[in-house]
Amino acid sequence: MERRQFLRQAGATLAVASTAGLAACAGQPSRPVSTGRALSLAPIRASTDRITGVYVCTRPFRAAGPRIEMQKLGAKTIVHNYGHGGSGWSLSWGAGTLALQMAQSTGVRELGVIGCGAIGLTTALLAQRAGLAVRIYAKALPPDVFSMRASGLWTPDSRICDAAHAPALADRWEMMTRISYARYQSLLGLPGNPIEWIDGYSLSDAPFGKFHGDVPDEPEYGDFADRVRDLTPRPVELPPGSHPFPEPYVRRYSTIMFNISSYANLLMSEFLAAGGKIEVREFQHADELQKLPEHTLVNATGYGARALFNDDSVIPVRGQTARLIPQPEVTYGLRTHNLSVVPRTDGLMVQVLGDSGNFNNDDITPHREVSEAAVRELAEVVSQMKSDPAHSPA
Ligand SMILES: Cc1cc2nc3c(=O)[nH]c(=O)nc-3n(C[C@H](O)[C@H](O)[C@H](O)COP(=O)(O)OP(=O)(O)OC[C@H]3O[C@@H](n4cnc5c(N)ncnc54)[C@H](O)[C@@H]3O)c2cc1C
Repeated sequence: MERRQFLRQAGATLAVASTAGLAACAGQPSRPVSTGRALSLAPIRASTDRITGVYVCTRPFRAAGPRIEMQKLGAKTIVHNYGHGGSGWSLSWGAGTLALQMAQSTGVRELGVIGCGAIGLTTALLAQRAGLAVRIYAKALPPDVFSMRASGLWTPDSRICDAAHAPALADRWEMMTRISYARYQSLLGLPGNPIEWIDGYSLSDAPFGKFHGDVPDEPEYGDFADRVRDLTPRPVELPPGSHPFPEPYVRRYSTIMFNISSYANLLMSEFLAAGGKIEVREFQHADELQKLPEHTLVNATGYGARALFNDDSVIPVRGQTARLIPQPEVTYGLRTHNLSVVPRTDGLMVQVLGDSGNFNNDDITPHREVSEAAVRELAEVVSQMKSDPAHSPA
């Protein structure tokens, strides 16, 4: 791919690719502002031999948005909480709050939660904090759940519903987003930095237009950015010379980042420390849930709900990321037209954006060559950055 081609409209596919985040895309294009002195950024060591792993997972997308509702099933009340597309981490606390309200309406004191990903863990913690005794049942635990393979950015409206269903979901989405956002602010500054705010840079060789986020073979998704503009800072255009990039158009964005390894570890530790129980167990049929001792169960099985509850409305949207060896000195994100880097403490996440063939694709075989090509593109971007002697290798 030609460099000019992939840098052409950096960011156009970002919200959809679940790597840029609503925070990054929000706001009208701003006028360039001077940052005073030139920005100095530690270079990313982008080489394919620094890839520590290539990971694939399927986003549990539903055209109508997440299923958060109660269902009576035999002797059990099931509270469904699944189908959060590319927004599961971002919406987890809000979705869990809604699910818990439903569960509590049954008068329950003991709750079973099926699933131990982003959604199951946060719902379980909320239930514990409300005084319930909680047992998680799951066929896999972190780090072996899909949630651990996410990019780790605040992306509350990434592949969360299709455009046709957006009006019906909007109010509920906003409520979930605001609840989650507030919760994330209370998780800042903790040991291990599970949650932090970062700056990142979008690079383009053409003026930034309105973001569309279209991927050719994916539906038009719901876009809710306008509803929560007050939550996150606007992106800022930086004038040439004030940054190390050769591109004529550079934007700085600020967003919340989830350091997923330490964050999931924190959630698990808190759940267990508060007396939570975990049973590793796979259910082949929803009928098997009848044998569990709890009368009320939260179904937080993510993509697994498609098979367990025969719910074909859950569509797999494949996503692949590669991790480079961590570089603590790299604290900024990067985006070009078809590439994203997230500077997590457990590795620099590199993801291809805007690629097709992922919708309704449940193939979780990693394609290493795709990630290697992305890392080589990244190396080209880095090689064109103005170097700062302060960051030269000793
Ligand atoms: C490439 C990529 C990047 C992403 N980036 C972001 C991002 O930056 N920000 C963001 O907010 N979201 C992101 N997402 C989306 C996010 O990862 C998902 O929305 C989220 O992981 C869904 O969490 P979950 O708990 O519902 O599912 P999962 O993590 O899949 O957890 C499901 C749980 O249920 C269990 N389970 C399933 N079936 C059964 C069964 N039959 N019996 C027993 N247990 C069962 C599993 O073992 C697991 O414990 C991304 C997704 C992808 C693919």
